[in-house]
Amino acid sequence: MSRVYNFSAGPAVLPEEVLREAAEEMLDYNGTGMSVMEMSHRSKAFQEIIDTAEADLRDLMGIPEDYAVLFLQGGASQQFAMIPMNLMKNKSADYIVTGQWAKKASEEAKKYGKVNIVASSADKTFSYIPDVSDLPISEDADYVYICENNTIYGTKYQELPNTKGKLLVADVSSCFLSEPVDVTKYGVIYGGVQKNIGPAGTVIVIIRKDLITDDVLPLTPTMLKYKTHADAGSLYNTPPAYGIYICGKVFRWLKKQGGLEAMKAHNEKKAKLLYDYLDESKMFRGTVEPKDRSLMNVPFVTGDDELDAKFVKEAKAAGFENLKGHRSVGGMRASIYNAMPIQGVEALVAFMKKFEEENL
Ligand SMILES: *Cc1c(COP(=O)(O)O)cnc(C)c1O
Repeated sequence: MSRVYNFSAGPAVLPEEVLREAAEEMLDYNGTGMSVMEMSHRSKAFQEIIDTAEADLRDLMGIPEDYAVLFLQGGASQQFAMIPMNLMKNKSADYIVTGQWAKKASEEAKKYGKVNIVASSADKTFSYIPDVSDLPISEDADYVYICENNTIYGTKYQELPNTKGKLLVADVSSCFLSEPVDVTKYGVIYGGVQKNIGPAGTVIVIIRKDLITDDVLPLTPTMLKYKTHADAGSLYNTPPAYGIYICGKVFRWLKKQGGLEAMKAHNEKKAKLLYDYLDESKMFRGTVEPKDRSLMNVPFVTGDDELDAKFVKEAKAAGFENLKGHRSVGGMRASIYNAMPIQGVEALVAFMKKFEEENL
């Protein structure tokens, strides 16, 4: 067996230790004689899995008691509708558009109310985060929406926007658990887990409990009401049980690594290796404003499409997978999530140096 270095933006690399454990438990989870995949979600064994996962996540992120943790389905994209349906009491919301995911979310929200784009970085292909210190926040806005780490473009907010007292809602799909977070600054934090935590199919929503009400937009489906899931402990219907089980294992792994402070240090070290090289290279360069660089997604180009394609092809042959940039940006992108070992980034930089020498 040989494992590659997988730089995919998502679904993405998971800790090898977690995959091995899951493999070992595949046929017989903890003496139950069955796989977690085959298990009733109403069983004692599964209840323990979901309770432990929630407790470990609360511990890792320091989630206060007045926030609920929901394990839902539908991916991050389903939240684009659930958020307005549940939170647009005044039928108005402010969106900051820093990439395709924020744009998609804002377009979905338009179906349910008035959407004000209060800032955008579309003018420079989303290569920076706009100044968000003094935005024209709408008087009647129910919330201010951001995508905190822009997976496709490789930018991240270094400071949260000044929402002038309005609720902050954040999509953290691609920076989930990559560094410590102050949950109390948000009304809702959510993310699809397939970028940094687990298998696709599960989305985690952390929501202040006073926002979970029956006062939702008319015709909101039962399944799209936060209250439905909060009242049932995420077990209103069959949850994405196997996904939750793997997320739980990743939470344990993160705690063993030293928690989110340690993860941040590890991620900064990895990202610095790559950015430092991009800054000194005569062939490759990063595509975003240095001050807004993401620790998780690192897009770069040579400036020549043919050379980019040659690089991606040779990198693949050398065991570096999924380095092709998003179809909307081109070039390359290395996603270096929590589970990417530092050796992977070191090996990539060494490969890039060699490629530069051979092709310059
Ligand atoms: C991948 C991604 C999404 C979409 O996730 P799905 O689970 O496929 O719906 C949304 N937001 C961000 C920031 C992402 O990286």
